[in-house]
Amino acid sequence: MNPNELNKALSKLPLGDIKYFESIGSTNDEALAWAANDAKDLSLVIADEQTAGRGRLDRKWFTPPGTALAFSLILRPTTDERPHLSRIVGLAALAVADALRTRRLTPQIKWPNDVLLLGHKVAGILVESVWSGEDIDCVVIGVGINVLKGSVPPADLLHFPATSLEDELGYPPDRLEVLFDILSNLIDMRPQLGTEEFLNRWGEALAFLGEQVQIEVGSEPPILGQLLGLESDGSLRLRDGHDKTVAVRFGDVRLRPLA
Ligand code: ATP
Repeated sequence: MNPNELNKALSKLPLGDIKYFESIGSTNDEALAWAANDAKDLSLVIADEQTAGRGRLDRKWFTPPGTALAFSLILRPTTDERPHLSRIVGLAALAVADALRTRRLTPQIKWPNDVLLLGHKVAGILVESVWSGEDIDCVVIGVGINVLKGSVPPADLLHFPATSLEDELGYPPDRLEVLFDILSNLIDMRPQLGTEEFLNRWGEALAFLGEQVQIEVGSEPPILGQLLGLESDGSLRLRDGHDKTVAVRFGDVRLRPLA
């Protein structure tokens, strides 16, 4: 990725500052440090390669050089956005999903933080926060997308099957065009974060809707149930085996279809 081309490709977006790295440990780590300092709203950290990319709970996220998109966007939430920060993971997932839909693909969101194409993971999202006392000062939205074939990790390292945009499209898409579309979608959708319409769009994009799924919760026995949709805060709503509706919060949870 060439920094001049990157700046040119993003010049029409109302971003804060941009930091580009040929190789970095984790774009989220860099963005969290910058956010705790003086980063403006919508500042972007982007890298061609991550050597210590992170998923949730410090799981590893692979970003080999020259093949993927790995970036972290810093948001300084407005007063209106503050009551809805738990929806930000949905904002990012929908922004990615819409960019894929524009390319005639059929993405689905594997709650809470992955985007699937035909049941294979193509993107992962990691939202982290910088606190100032009791309040969230900044939110960092980390996004990793497998763009070219070479970005897909070897199958034996995965708990869930993965794919790339190139695999699904049959041609290699331009990484900067994909990046532009995602950021532009996210910026456009941001004012709707607190609306019912946003929640409905997010809910409709979920994978396994109406299907039986299991939620692995740490080392506890899994929760089994039918996936009904989302609660207002973005928690997942299930109907369990006793016909009771239960809400599953974000955390140490992994969603799986019931085989
Ligand atoms: P799972 O994907 O197993 O349901 P998860 O949603 O908790 O778990 P994440 O935190 O989103 O996982 O992502 C980390 C996991 O994703 C890693 O443990 C690894 O199995 C997988 N992974 C790592 N890099 C990639 C990649 N480039 N593409 C697809 N999957 C990846």
